[in-house]
Amino acid sequence: MPHYKVAIVGAGPAGYFTAQALQNSQSDDLIFSIDMFERLPTMWGLVRSGVAPDHPKIKTVAKVFEKIASDPNFRLFGNVEIGRDLDIEEMCPRYDAVVMCTGSSIGKKLGIPGEDLPGSLSAADFVPWYNGHPDYANVVVPLDGTTAVVIGAGNVAMDCARMLALDPSELDSTDTVQHALDAFHKSNVRKVHIVGRRGPEHAAFTSPELRELPKLEHTDVMISADVINAANTRASVGEIDKQLASNFEAFHLVAEKKPLGHPRSMEFHFLSTPKEIKGNGKVEEVIFGINEVKDGKVVDTGNIYSIKTSLVISAIGYESLPIPGISFMKGKIENEAGRVLGTNIYTVGWAKRGPSGVIGTNKSDASDVVKLLIEDLDPEPKQGGDITVVLPTSITVVDQSAWSKINAAEIAAGEAAGKPRIKEVSKVRLLEMGTK
Ligand SMILES: Cc1cc2nc3c(=O)[nH]c(=O)nc-3n(C[C@H](O)[C@H](O)[C@H](O)COP(=O)(O)OP(=O)(O)OC[C@H]3O[C@@H](n4cnc5c(N)ncnc54)[C@H](O)[C@@H]3O)c2cc1C
Repeated sequence: MPHYKVAIVGAGPAGYFTAQALQNSQSDDLIFSIDMFERLPTMWGLVRSGVAPDHPKIKTVAKVFEKIASDPNFRLFGNVEIGRDLDIEEMCPRYDAVVMCTGSSIGKKLGIPGEDLPGSLSAADFVPWYNGHPDYANVVVPLDGTTAVVIGAGNVAMDCARMLALDPSELDSTDTVQHALDAFHKSNVRKVHIVGRRGPEHAAFTSPELRELPKLEHTDVMISADVINAANTRASVGEIDKQLASNFEAFHLVAEKKPLGHPRSMEFHFLSTPKEIKGNGKVEEVIFGINEVKDGKVVDTGNIYSIKTSLVISAIGYESLPIPGISFMKGKIENEAGRVLGTNIYTVGWAKRGPSGVIGTNKSDASDVVKLLIEDLDPEPKQGGDITVVLPTSITVVDQSAWSKINAAEIAAGEAAGKPRIKEVSKVRLLEMGTK
């Protein structure tokens, strides 16, 4: 019976759902052995380092991932980075297929003057900082000013704004990493502006996240009812789709809720393009150009306004970090429907599509790409030898048993503190935890 070997690079949702799709495609005539490689000693990709700490239910998908990993034909190689510890050229001959599920971790730049001033950072740095990603523990997040500006009109921007605007006591029982929790407790930020370039009708927020806002217990959320009504009228010129209608309902709920005078607030602004970040050695002010919608197009009116602030977070999208030996185009792996043409390499998830879609989107993506991968399989599996032969012996590999120990230790530490887990940030300590 043909027994194929597949390498999956990246232990995020795309990686696990690819493994699941391969496992589900097995039959008496088709067996897969799966090796999953992850550069960090911790697994689950953005489910661990992206999803907001105050959304714990979303993270329960990790139980599905662990079930997938419990299959006897699944091996985990954590703390192994492809392109650094192993070359893609060493992998391809040893596997029938290599599936790149490496996500996109670099924040897109605004491309405006002042963007590199201290106090201006990307959501791609801020989010992993509060979520305990080992590479971002030392990000400097100045929270000494009273105002913060978040640029972007998607759920990542909303997560950043909410994390800044929540009363930090609401985060005490979450898995927010301790260094960030301490910083939020000391934070002077009381007003968070969230600013989008286009109108509410174009925003990428989704309605469940918007509907949560009027329920915040210690934060007033403000959206101008006039702005929402005007956008609703503009959008209603054509056929309005279900998702947009639901967003408008949610926007109206927020706009109708009277501010209760909480010391903390979050205010939405639309049709505003950031033009410049000003400041003497650090962020002091953001200048916005005011846009309008004309014949369905967003155009600059030539007018400007400014917001004084010491912290700007841009959440305008992500790009993939290039990996040696793989061709990237427009921030993604160059591919056709997930096939990297002329190779036995495939790609799934954000590395393939760019930063769009929720966790579940990666499941259907994985199952589509796995169908193509199976179509392309040679009748005879490759006889390339085991990857462990070329894996440098200097690397401490986090296998499934070591990861289970790390996971269990974090959960146990959290239990004592009334949290889902206490995340360890140091790679050295994580590796130690894996051996205990
Ligand atoms: C801030 C934020 C909040 C989000 N919140 C939600 C939410 O609430 N609900 C929801 O449904 N979706 C949410 N999403 C979207 C969801 O996280 C993504 O759809 C999903 O994580 C994409 O999966 P992925 O596997 O492609 O990428 P990732 O989750 O990024 O996983 C990629 C993995 O590959 C590893 N890797 C990268 N390069 C290498 C290499 N060279 N060698 C080995 N390993 C490598 C990375 O370390 C990482 O573990 C959020 C996204 C962000 C950014």
